[in-house]
Amino acid sequence: MSANDHDSEVTATEMVITCRTAGCPHDGVPFTARMYPRPNPPVWAAVCAVCDQMVPDIVPAP
Ligand SMILES: [Zn+2]
Repeated sequence: MSANDHDSEVTATEMVITCRTAGCPHDGVPFTARMYPRPNPPVWAAVCAVCDQMVPDIVPAP
């Protein structure tokens, strides 16, 4: 139970993000981040912090 419950606040979800940009130092290196679902598709979208390219591989953390 969180002491932080708000009525209409979207909760962040822990997601595993893996960059797939060839040549990026983080290519294939998964990292987790707390993300908020977007109101429009794609629901999950992120850019790699290293190469600044869209990351196609975003899955919920186990
Ligand atoms: Zn990258």
